[in-house]
Amino acid sequence: MATCFWLRSCGARRLGSTFPGCRLPRAGGLVPAGPAPGPAQLRGYAGGLAGLSAALLRTDSFVGGRWLPAAATFPVQDPASGAALGMVADCGVSEARAAVRAAYEAFCSWREVSAKERSSLLRKWYNLMIQNKDDLARIITAESGKPLKEAHGEILYSAFFLEWFSEEARRVYGDIIYTPAKDKRALVLKQPVGVAAVITPWNFPSAMITRKVGAALAAGCTVVVKPAEDTPFSALALAELASQAGIPPGVYNVIPCSRKNAKEVGEAICTDPLVSKISFTGSTTTGKILLHHAANSVKRVSMELGGLAPFIVFDSANVDQAVAGALASKFRNTGQTCVCSNRFLVQRGIHDAFVKAFAEAMKKNLHVGNGFEEGTTQGPLINEKAVEKVEKQVNDAVSKGATIVTGGKRHHLGKNFFEPTLLSNVTQDMLCTHEETFGPLAPVIKFDTEEEAIAIANATDVGLAGYFYSQDPAQIWRVAEQLEVGMVGVNEGLISSVECPFGGVKQSGLGREGSKYGIDEYLELKYVCYGGL
Ligand code: NAP
Repeated sequence: MATCFWLRSCGARRLGSTFPGCRLPRAGGLVPAGPAPGPAQLRGYAGGLAGLSAALLRTDSFVGGRWLPAAATFPVQDPASGAALGMVADCGVSEARAAVRAAYEAFCSWREVSAKERSSLLRKWYNLMIQNKDDLARIITAESGKPLKEAHGEILYSAFFLEWFSEEARRVYGDIIYTPAKDKRALVLKQPVGVAAVITPWNFPSAMITRKVGAALAAGCTVVVKPAEDTPFSALALAELASQAGIPPGVYNVIPCSRKNAKEVGEAICTDPLVSKISFTGSTTTGKILLHHAANSVKRVSMELGGLAPFIVFDSANVDQAVAGALASKFRNTGQTCVCSNRFLVQRGIHDAFVKAFAEAMKKNLHVGNGFEEGTTQGPLINEKAVEKVEKQVNDAVSKGATIVTGGKRHHLGKNFFEPTLLSNVTQDMLCTHEETFGPLAPVIKFDTEEEAIAIANATDVGLAGYFYSQDPAQIWRVAEQLEVGMVGVNEGLISSVECPFGGVKQSGLGREGSKYGIDEYLELKYVCYGGL
């Protein structure tokens, strides 16, 4: 924040002259982005079978309220069919720096906009998402392969973050503290952190953006978003709607880039002195790189990283409930969510009944196919590398004594598809019990005692979500408190909700998103000692 104050007082005008292209709003005044240029040129797909909305399918970067091409482009493909969706601007370091400056200049005005006005603009953005929900969902399915029904669910979840934070924007309160000194009062102000660099993954290409950006904009921060190479279209469609909603130029910027440029672009936005906050969702490996960047320039961070969720079924559990929860938590997005169950721990007394019922439910309810096809519940994995990872874990487990109950191999539909797979006789020396799978593989470990289950569940350096099924109230309290995770599902396999704090412990991350706590990640506390009373 100190950097921003310094620049705000003596540097903003200088930066403005360096970037004459950024038409910035005056403090307190809202200047909507100019009319968007015509639909971007698409090669191969728009208007094709999937019927994607050309108006929302943008291919340029969005910086300072303008759609800007880059010197190079990169291709985006439908992971189900391999069809080309379009060529997208491949931003580099210079585009990244320009986006940061646009965001910084906009911050100097956006922070002065009243909370009520920020709230109303976020609400307009939310309304536009709802109006365009079908088109937005189709974009998600096209670029990520997610079944259309789930893509619809993601769009609602994503839009609800804008709605939630439009409400939270007006509920940022400070404090007055009475100290022992009679002639003084202490005030605590909450002020926006500044420009946030936002880096997001492909598995929730819309919701992982709004979960951060909703909170950031509500707090008075501006953002530069770098979406994943595989899924830039959702981020760009959000930009189109932000512009239509009247979010001022420079407040929401998107710089798509290829995987080849991700390291440099990430470093540029995360080390820029005009950036005060890094908010990342993705793998723990990448999170550690970004934490180094943050350390060198002492920036605030929010890290939503990988997990290895345990799913424990105790003897007292209701088998049908546990199977329904297992299906939901393991196979959502074809196993590609950070809160997907990664390890099933099942107590000896209920083990055989659970495995039998789980296998039957998988065969009955899971349908592999193109996400656009009616009835598909399991789309493709994001790319062939992801399929190779699942295949490697299955082969490793089988070579060490695991039994394939169902599935176990690539699916005949194409190179990015894998059969929903259930393994039993799994032991802790197998790769699938200590490496995040991110695919449709459910490995079952048999255990005897509660202590043993807790020890296995906690024997990892990550701790995002954990689930367990039990009908014993005392056990429920004990286990919920002992699991080393940020989120617990008790007799429940789906736990995400905008109203609740999302985040992990250990190497699963730092900070919380969503809920009443999420906005704090974008606010600084300032203590003001008011003397001479
Ligand atoms: P990833 O490889 O870490 O990529 C995430 C984002 O970081 C992408 O935009 C990626 O760009 C970018 N990136 C990669 N290397 C970078 C670098 N050196 N500097 C700057 N940016 C870089 O993760 P992923 O495989 O896409 O996503 C899956 C992971 O995300 C899983 O571990 C999952 O558990 C985690 N996740 C966590 C949450 C949560 O809330 N905790 C939610 C969803 C996912 P490219 O796409 O161009 O490589």
